[in-house]
Amino acid sequence: MERVYNFSAGPSMLPQEVLEIAAAEMLNYQGSGTSVLEMSHRSPVYDGIIKGAERKLRALLEIPDNYKVLFLQGGASTQFAAVPLNLMNGSKKADYILSGQFSSKAYEEGKKYGDVYAVASSKEAGFSYVPRVKKEDFRADADFVHICFNNTIYGTKFPYIPDTGDVPLVADFSSCIASESMDIKKFGLIYAGAQKNIAPAGLTVVIVREDLLGNARAETPTMLNYKVMADSESMYNTPPCYCIYMLGLVCDWLEKQGGMSAMKERNQRKAALLYDYLDSQSYYIAPVEKESRSMMNITFLTGDAALDKAFVQAAEKEGLINLKGHRSVGGMRASIYNAMPYEGVEKLVRFMQDFAAKNPKTK
Ligand SMILES: *Cc1c(COP(=O)(O)O)cnc(C)c1O
Repeated sequence: MERVYNFSAGPSMLPQEVLEIAAAEMLNYQGSGTSVLEMSHRSPVYDGIIKGAERKLRALLEIPDNYKVLFLQGGASTQFAAVPLNLMNGSKKADYILSGQFSSKAYEEGKKYGDVYAVASSKEAGFSYVPRVKKEDFRADADFVHICFNNTIYGTKFPYIPDTGDVPLVADFSSCIASESMDIKKFGLIYAGAQKNIAPAGLTVVIVREDLLGNARAETPTMLNYKVMADSESMYNTPPCYCIYMLGLVCDWLEKQGGMSAMKERNQRKAALLYDYLDSQSYYIAPVEKESRSMMNITFLTGDAALDKAFVQAAEKEGLINLKGHRSVGGMRASIYNAMPYEGVEKLVRFMQDFAAKNPKTK
C-alpha cells in the first residue's frame, strides 16, 4: 500500500521528510555507531540531542527565558493530576472551563485535590462552542484557572485567551501546540501530549513559568514534581529519549517551513478549504459554532449514521483514513495537523463532493 492521507486525531501524521531523516539515521546516528534507540540518555551524544530539542522548541515557540521546558511521560492525562498537585497549594481552589471531554476529565481529577469550580460549560450544547468567560467569573483567590485550548473531539478552539487577572492560566495545548504562534506570557503553564502535532506518542511537553515551581504539595509523587524535573533537566529518570529526538527533527522541519507564522497561514488555508466547502452545501452538517471552529480538528456529519459509516469506509478505499468521529460523538472528523499537506485536504473535499453525488439522502 502507498502512504495514505491519515486524518487520525492522534497519534497522527508526521512530516514525511522527518520520517526519512529518522530512517536514514536509524542504524547509526551521525557516526556515533549506535541508533538513538540504543543510546544511554547520559551519553554526550544524547545530551546534544535533548539540549538541541529544547533549544529548537524554545526558538520556534518563542518561549520566554523565565519559563522552563519539561520533557515528561504519562501523556496529557497525567497532567490532569500533576497540575493540581503542583499548583493547588494556596487557597486550594481551582477554576475550570468545561469545553469538552478532556477539560471535563481534568476537572474530575482536580476534585481529588481541593475545591474545584466549573466556571462555565458548553456540555448542554454537546460542546459545540467554547464558553465566553469574563474576568469577574473567576474566583480571584483561585490557585489556577484551567482550560483546554483546542477541543480535539468536538473540533472547537478558544477564540480568545481568557483574562484571569493574577490567577495563573493553565492550558491543555495537546492538539494545537505549534500550529500557530502563541503568546506564552499569557499562560502560567502549558502542557501538551506530543502525539498530535509535534512528535510520536510517549512524550508530554510542559512549559511552565518559573515562579510557579517549588510549592508542590507534600504528597506529590517525585515523578510528577515539576521542580524535580526542572532541576534535573528532565533527566531525573530515563526520559522518552527517541520521542525527544523526533521532536527535534519536527522542530527543524517547522523552522524550514518558515516557522509559526508560515504554519499558521498554511493551517488556515487548509482549514478554510474544508470549512468553505462545508458552508457551501447542505449534504454535510458542520455542527460547531463558527467563531469556535478549530483549525486542527474539523467535525462534520451527514445526519444519517448509516451514511456516515459508509462515508468512512469509502474514504478509506481512496487512501483517506481515520475519518471516523470520536466514539462519543459519531459522525466524521478530519484532523489536519501541521504534517497534513494541502493536497490531502483537497483530495478529501473532492471525495466529499463525489460521495454526496453518489449517495443521495433518502430521509
Ligand atoms: C489527546 C488529548 C488528551 C489526552 O492525551 P494523552 O496523551 O492520551 O493522555 C488530552 N487533551 C487533549 C486536548 C487531547 O487532544
